[in-house]
Order: sequence, then C-alpha cells, then structure tokens
Amino acid sequence: VRILEDEIIERIRRRIPSSEGGLLHTGIGHDAAVIRPQRRDWVITCDQFLEGVHFLMEKSPPESVGYKALARATSDLVAMAAQPRVFFMSIVLPEERTGKWLSRMISGMARASKLYGLRLAGGDTARAPEKTGSVALNLTVLGEIPRGRTIGRAGAKPGNSIFVTGVLGGAQLGLELLMAHKALTRNRKLLTAQYYPVLPLDFALWLGRNHPPTAMMDVSDGLSTDLTRLCRASGVGAVVYADKIPTVALPKSLKPPRMDALTLALHGGEDYGLLFTIPPKIAARIPAVFGRTRVTRIGEIVSGSGVKLVSSEGQIAKLRPGGWDHFRKQ
Ligand SMILES: [Mg+2]
Repeated sequence: VRILEDEIIERIRRRIPSSEGGLLHTGIGHDAAVIRPQRRDWVITCDQFLEGVHFLMEKSPPESVGYKALARATSDLVAMAAQPRVFFMSIVLPEERTGKWLSRMISGMARASKLYGLRLAGGDTARAPEKTGSVALNLTVLGEIPRGRTIGRAGAKPGNSIFVTGVLGGAQLGLELLMAHKALTRNRKLLTAQYYPVLPLDFALWLGRNHPPTAMMDVSDGLSTDLTRLCRASGVGAVVYADKIPTVALPKSLKPPRMDALTLALHGGEDYGLLFTIPPKIAARIPAVFGRTRVTRIGEIVSGSGVKLVSSEGQIAKLRPGGWDHFRKQ
C-alpha cells in the first residue's frame, strides 16, 4: 500500500537539498531534526504564504508560489545580516494540488533554496478539508551569524544616512498589472519583481561584516510603512528626498491613472530590498552598486519622530505609512 504522504515528502526531498552532515546533524526522515551549532548565534523566523491572502491561484505560476514563499521568509534573515542555512516547511494541500501543481511549486522552491544556500530539515504535510480547501505554506527558516553580530531595527541615530537596496515599487507594479488584467506577454518582464523577488544576500553579508549598520530591516510592506517602523523602534525621525528614491521606469505604453512611479516606490510592498542606517562617515564607503545590487542613499535620520518627504521642488510633507497592513479596515 502506498503511503501518499510519504510519497509527497519524497518528491519534495528529491528536489530540495536536504543532505545531513555538519550543522544539520540529523535531517529529514526522522521524527525531528537535530541541529548542532558551533558557537554562533541562530537567527530564526517563520512566515506563512496562503492562497487567497498572499497569492492568488489563478494569477500566480506554481513555480512563483514556491520560490516566493521561501524567498520572503528568508528575507527576514537577510535583514539581520545572517547567513541562511536550513528551513522547515508545513504544507496544507487540497487533493487537486498534489499532482502537477505541487511538482511545479517544488521546483520554484528548489530554485530559491539553491540560490540562498538553504537545506530542507523537515516539515509536515496535511490535506486541506474538502471544498473549502486552499493551499497554505508555513515556513520556518534558520540562519547563523558570528555571536552578537545581528543587526536589529532599534539603533538608528540622528545624523545617520538612510540607504535602500534595489528599486522600489517593482513588485507592486507587477501586482497592479496582474489585478488590472494587463499581464500580457508584452508586460511579462514587469511581473518578475512580483513573482521572483531577488534578495540582496551577498550585499547584506558584506555589509554586516565590514560596515555594520546601526539599524536594518527588509522592505516588505512598503518604504513608508517600514521606515516608520524603523524610526519608532529607534526613537528617531527621518527625512527622505523624493528625487533620490530609486523608482521603476514605467513603460510609456502603460498609463492607468493609479500608477505613478513615486507612489509605487513609497507605498508598494514586496520588493524585499534592505533599508538600513549608517553613520555619515561610513556612508562614503558604501558602493552605489554591489554585484547586481543597487544601493542608494535616500535621506537621513533626525531627532524627533515621524518621516518627512522632501519633494523635488523642496516642499516638505509628512509621509504617513501607506503600505501593506493585514489588519487595516478597507
Ligand atoms: Mg521583515
């Protein structure tokens, strides 16, 4: 008699690196994993990726679901300057997703696991209840770092320069195109940031080792929301300059009224770049491009509270958090 659950686990295990040895002393296939750390700090995060909440089945290729579920969970480790190592996955699947859809989802996840150096250490599978069933992925990701070297959100000081990596608003642009049914082949490239966000892992590790920021986090919910969080955690305010913010280039052919590049960059989520603060003396040592990662200084930390935006004409306005918030009433 075939044990279907074991078959699913085997299919996942064949594709995603899960070998034992070193840190992962005992891996998948036992009742629990054994991790054997060597005088380092462990950085741990968990993240959910739910059909209907984080992705729409009819709008997302299965490869993107697998890739993005793991990438966005890993992003929180990158944001602490930790090296990702192993992950655990709990998965809920409706019957009709256990075939081809699952295989394609796994191949996307395998791509992310190889790109970010992650091995699968264990997990759990369950079938979704009939009719109401939807896909749910639960990922726990562990990373390591030399003791005491993680970077939190609370250390930003007045006078620090504020930097972001990558271009802001690309993922939101992709989402708007998908929702507006403008995902034509012509616009395919514009969906990449939404489907397959690239984490600035090498840059984060370099930065953590050589020029540790006073505060750092990933931009997952939009610059306005995440910079507000960083400022609150540090007990400071911030000023950012509109003409410094790296925005997406909107194709001329595309002009729905809601899309303006600055608004997308300020409030659009899911880019998974880094937001960090650094003393101005060190700021000069931060390269404008690191590998394939663009790094941009967008403003500075000030005393007080709240975030202010300086327009290209020099006008100053409050920048209220306008990014993604699960619990905001519409
Ligand atoms: Mg985060």
